[in-house]
Amino acid sequence: MKWLSFGGPGGERPGVLLSENEVLDIAGQWPRWPRDWRHLLAAGIDAEIARLVSAGRYSARHVHAAPPLVLAPPIPNPSKVVALGRNYASHAAEQDRPAAQHPLLFAKAPSSLVGHEATVVVVPQETRPDYEAEMALVIGRTARDVAQDDALSHVAGVSAFNDVSGRDAQFKDRLWFRGKSYDTFGPVGPWVVSLDEIGDPDDLELKMIVNGEVRQKARTSEMVAGAAMIVAYVSRHMTLLPGDLIATGTPGGVGVFRDPPIFLQDGDRMEVHLEGVGILANPVRRPKEEGG
Ligand code: MG
Repeated sequence: MKWLSFGGPGGERPGVLLSENEVLDIAGQWPRWPRDWRHLLAAGIDAEIARLVSAGRYSARHVHAAPPLVLAPPIPNPSKVVALGRNYASHAAEQDRPAAQHPLLFAKAPSSLVGHEATVVVVPQETRPDYEAEMALVIGRTARDVAQDDALSHVAGVSAFNDVSGRDAQFKDRLWFRGKSYDTFGPVGPWVVSLDEIGDPDDLELKMIVNGEVRQKARTSEMVAGAAMIVAYVSRHMTLLPGDLIATGTPGGVGVFRDPPIFLQDGDRMEVHLEGVGILANPVRRPKEEGG
């Protein structure tokens, strides 16, 4: 199943992608159920929705044409967004650092999240905005100190993620929270593909394409810590709740470590391509540089 949220901020509704062009409005179809994916997952209703949808047990009245819908982050309001640093050897090598010996965790503010085709807006004080293509894991069941063997049973599915990063703030602070948490610096989507449909999350092709140029290209099999190890590790340090996101790290090819560095410019179009999920596209809006 591919599931998503649609509608503007504050008005998001949960949906299921029935085909390339059709979205089923869950809140319209089943009005007694929770009205967002975080609480649908917490109530364990996602399996029931998958069963009813595959059996065709819904009304055409609640099916909308997909393209005009505004897509929100699939989980608009997670309790947290956990992200990993240096989880690909190629990204560690481009900064002359070793890959992380154990998963290196940092936080992104949930308020940074935006959906597919939302504009990433760079504030004037941040002059080195950069992209990072990643796979996101979406937690489906509460995970607290889970074993690696059991870890993926706590994952609802995967989505594409762009860990947009303000390198000025990131390097100046030597802490990553501010530079990773600007509003709109967390594009995710367009939808979540359930684990039963995606297959092995540790073997998907991942690319970042900016204005048609491939800037990053890797497979998730190159991750130092794979999906199950990541979930088990994080769950030993903090409880993962339904709807929480884990951004699993980015491969080599980010802008800041290129020679010469390339930063995001006004009018750029970023696309994260994740095999089995599709394309998460976001335009960039950036004020002109001072005096320019
Ligand atoms: Mg990252």
